[in-house]
Amino acid sequence: MDLESAVEQGEFSDNDFCGSHSSAGDKNSRVGRRCFSRVGVQTLPMRSYGDTSFLEHILGFVWVPTASIEEEYKEEGMEFIPPYVGRDGIERIYDRQLMGKPGSTTYTLDRKRRPLRVVMSESPTPGESLVLSIDMETQRVAREALGDRKGAVVALDPNTGEVLAMVSTPGYDLRIYEGGLTQTEFDSINLNKNAPLLKRGMAGEYPPGSTFKIVTAMAAYQAGKFNPSAAVSCPGYLTVGNRRVKCENHPAATYGFHMAMTKSCNSFFGKMSQRITAEEFKATADQLGFGVRSGIDLPGERKGVFPDRDFIKKAHKRPYSAGDANNIGIGQGDVLVTPLQMALLVSMVANEGVCYKPRVLRGVIEQSEGAKVQLTKPEELHRFDATEEFWRTMKSSLINVVNAGTARSSQISGIQVAGKTGSAENSQSRRTHAWFVGYAPAEKPKIAFAVLVETAGHGGSVAAPIAKQVVSTYLRDRNQKVNSNAVKIGLSLEPDSSDDMPESE
Ligand SMILES: [Zn+2]
Repeated sequence: MDLESAVEQGEFSDNDFCGSHSSAGDKNSRVGRRCFSRVGVQTLPMRSYGDTSFLEHILGFVWVPTASIEEEYKEEGMEFIPPYVGRDGIERIYDRQLMGKPGSTTYTLDRKRRPLRVVMSESPTPGESLVLSIDMETQRVAREALGDRKGAVVALDPNTGEVLAMVSTPGYDLRIYEGGLTQTEFDSINLNKNAPLLKRGMAGEYPPGSTFKIVTAMAAYQAGKFNPSAAVSCPGYLTVGNRRVKCENHPAATYGFHMAMTKSCNSFFGKMSQRITAEEFKATADQLGFGVRSGIDLPGERKGVFPDRDFIKKAHKRPYSAGDANNIGIGQGDVLVTPLQMALLVSMVANEGVCYKPRVLRGVIEQSEGAKVQLTKPEELHRFDATEEFWRTMKSSLINVVNAGTARSSQISGIQVAGKTGSAENSQSRRTHAWFVGYAPAEKPKIAFAVLVETAGHGGSVAAPIAKQVVSTYLRDRNQKVNSNAVKIGLSLEPDSSDDMPESE
């Protein structure tokens, strides 16, 4: 029903306010002024998303508040709940900073409650302007590299925890929220079987497959059971319960740790996992952040699953067995991780023992300080103590995976990449989830990443080439101009560049 007919049919009382989202404002004001004395015109704030393609899962959107959000704000003592609030992404987490303070106008009314004159008027205060850590070009390349496949790319700066790219496909066009959307439009996204609203990078939970062999080695080390030179003879497969998990990348062979990692030998890591107790596995998993949320500054993060004795008992009504240890050792069975957790794991290896809390807020623009960017400080998230020798062994094996193993398709001329592939069996399809996780440049890491493509085949042939594009884009851009692509939302003020100088390369 349009506004004019609604008024004619007596839909409104004197106190009603009628809003309209569209560009029909001119028409409404004509209606209000000339035809209907009881109709007034008011403006509502509206977010314009502009060209924010590739950023929908980061930015989120503003829309009418839910009852629980309204309740939350009232409990915080907010007197005026705005007509639109942050409902997802950065908009939700930093809503209070972004929304500013509403203005107000007090009128004297006549007998018929029509405004006569303004008594007092206070201008609204704009919200803060935020600078995000996302590198637009890297984000765009990651999205295009995933194409129409379902998957995720998470890239972090291992030195700070800043999220450089976090892409989930399929996505949706944020601009549908400009001017409001109908329930049918919302349902077309919300009920879509490909789940375009799902942030697969941090809320998708997947079996990690062979990428988890990094964790197995760390658990063995922590339990005092890591012997890289002990060789295991592999018939070309690992037996788990009554099934065989094939070693896809090598024939029957005898390998120590270095070659077992390079060729992703299941027997080697199965044997290693047999020496690690459920409690030892769990202790390392806790320390590395599996089965817990990282606390990233975006809503909806999932924590994955790390199966311990209790979990197995509840889930399968039987005690923890050697088969469970084998499954954990090669990242199958009940283990579920998010791509973000895997990116944090490799950023810890890159840093030789520490990883920082992931975040997308790079800083806040301080208007009072001449539009200078107040940078967010890195916060340590997990720490793993190991000898230099352990890190040297681990890192050289991950370099060899790229140079001579399963991830040769991630090689970049002039840049040494280190990483681990995975091809994870799953309940969705006969085709494995393709994984590649790692960091670069290996000698002084500036980017740590996890690439996951659902039911797409092998990590080495599907995920590693995507990582190659993402890493080369980011490192090439860094060499040209640091942070030229950083995303800014709020006011379009240029941050002071003095705090933001490129490191000398
Ligand atoms: Zn093998």
